[in-house]
Amino acid sequence: MIQSPSGIKLLNKQDFPCDSEECDLTEALQLRLLELEDFAQRVEADAAKTIALAEELAIAKSMTDKALRQAENSELRTRSVLDAVVDGIFTINMDGMIESVNASCTGILDASEAELLSGDIGDIVFDFEGLNLEAVLQDGESGDICGQDGVTLRCRARPRSGEPFPAELIMSRLVVSGQVKYTCVLRDITERMNSEVAIQKLALYDQLTGAANRHEFHRRLDTAISLAGRQGVTAALLLLDLDKFKEVNDTYGHPVGDELLISVTRILEESVRDSDTVARIGGDEFAVILNNVVDPLRIRQVAERIVDGLSQSMVVDGSLISTGTSVGISIYPRDAKDAKELVRLGDKALYEAKRRGRGNYQYYDEVMDADARAEQVLENDLRLAVVRNELELYFQPQLATRGNVPIGAEALVRWRHPTRGLLLPGDFIPLAEKSGLIVDIGKQVLFEGCRAVQDWNEAGINSLLMAINVSPNQFMSDQFLQTVSDALDSTGIDPRSLEIEITENSLIEDPEKVRTKLETIRSFGVSIAIDDFGTGYASLAYLRNFPVQKLKIDRTFIKNLTTSAPDRAIAEAIANLGHSLNISTVAEGIETSQQATAIRRMPCSGMQGYYFSRPLSERRFWQWLRER
Ligand code: GH3
Ligand code: MG
Repeated sequence: MIQSPSGIKLLNKQDFPCDSEECDLTEALQLRLLELEDFAQRVEADAAKTIALAEELAIAKSMTDKALRQAENSELRTRSVLDAVVDGIFTINMDGMIESVNASCTGILDASEAELLSGDIGDIVFDFEGLNLEAVLQDGESGDICGQDGVTLRCRARPRSGEPFPAELIMSRLVVSGQVKYTCVLRDITERMNSEVAIQKLALYDQLTGAANRHEFHRRLDTAISLAGRQGVTAALLLLDLDKFKEVNDTYGHPVGDELLISVTRILEESVRDSDTVARIGGDEFAVILNNVVDPLRIRQVAERIVDGLSQSMVVDGSLISTGTSVGISIYPRDAKDAKELVRLGDKALYEAKRRGRGNYQYYDEVMDADARAEQVLENDLRLAVVRNELELYFQPQLATRGNVPIGAEALVRWRHPTRGLLLPGDFIPLAEKSGLIVDIGKQVLFEGCRAVQDWNEAGINSLLMAINVSPNQFMSDQFLQTVSDALDSTGIDPRSLEIEITENSLIEDPEKVRTKLETIRSFGVSIAIDDFGTGYASLAYLRNFPVQKLKIDRTFIKNLTTSAPDRAIAEAIANLGHSLNISTVAEGIETSQQATAIRRMPCSGMQGYYFSRPLSERRFWQWLRER
């Protein structure tokens, strides 16, 4: 059989089955025709199928192309969004290997995509605070740490070049085809940290010196105490107040004072360890907290270093300035168990250091506290004493060097204490100064002194001078001039009978103000004496500039008048100085006839002391006067 190229079989004569040639041919042809028709139908059906298939294929292809194009666009879009984000975004697998990065990542970390993709997360972030990376990765299977919303870690990021920077790493866990992956957002938080630091600085540190402020000091003291308590060690508190710092401001101006405070802070910081605290808790007040003191000797060493360091002159703004400091020390747990008490005791110790002449350090101890409590009681009593008129004046006579005749008396205050008997000025005047009660006490004394003069005058005695002591605080108080004028007016005494005794140190505070005050007092007719002359800090030039009528030669020179050549020379020099300036002089504290004789040989106008008379009550003073 022959097969046509189209697959249709071609028949030969022998293919026909009957003998009669014609019949057989017709039959065969019909059969053949049927076969062909059948074949044609099948071909037609196949062609339709093929066409349908081709159509389907074309549709499918076009749909696939479209889907591919859409997917491509979507990935591109996602990619471009990710790349536009400022934060670095990358994905890692559970082993920490980096699998994809966005554009910002390469910028932030200064590395190419290829470099980043060849490393793991540990190459780019480190130094975790609190929760760390390992914990998150190890928890990959359960996902407990990441939870639904992811987890934020604080760390530092390490760029290929340049300094590491503080960073925030936000990790979200996802499962892709059964595998745990993490999407990580890496954020540079340098600016946020800087503003956090700036805000912290404002809230916790002193703006001028950069030292911890008062608020931060209290917080750190609490921490130091609880830490020392837990570890069973000692912590020490050193409270400082600069000495005579006002003078620095007055002499060189506030800006220089400020510079000095900054230099002081640096010296303090250099005197302690980094783990200790230096705080500025007031104008010229500082505090140092020594943590974890194992050897108590260290407290002493630091205190010495500070006192010495601050006593040295410093160059500030081109001027050589020295200040100095007093330091009070209290110790946990020896002195107190809580911060408030520790500060209170440190303050007491500081007060003691000031009292002992400044430029030194004092440890708080029990005795000091007992003293302080006694002082508190005394202060309350003194407040009552002013109201209850328990203060009395005693009068110590003054005599003329020539002729031994009375020239006046110095009024000296006594306190008739209800339970402690008669107290001398030394027992309560310093307390009165400190508490401010001196202004009221001084006023009473002035009025009482003037009243006593009134009595003298009524008895016909008009030649005596009443000398009244005025303390520096009382003298500098705003009411002082008014008080003098009121006392004179209310008693009506001759102002020339009244003398105001002030100490040298009252003169140096504010010379211009002092001069005006003294001139006003002089204009009232009241005279002015300088007490304890030769022991204070006043310059001799004050004698030229201030209206002074009398110098009282201090008892310390009189005491050794006959045994110490220098003391005698000083006493004599003061007497001569007064004589040449036409200022009278009175030697106080004369206790022996030899001292009196020595004074009589000097150009000294008056004498006062136990040798002639002790201070006397008013009644006894009258008696003393009558005897003369
Ligand atoms: P003392 O020896 O008794 O401590 O005397 P002081 O002169 O140091 O006086 P005190 O400690 O009582 O007063 C501190 C002074 O410090 C008062 C104020 O004029 C000054 N002061 C306070 N704050 C500042 C500041 O910020 N800058 C400057 N320059 N001076 C300040
Ligand atoms: Mg001070």
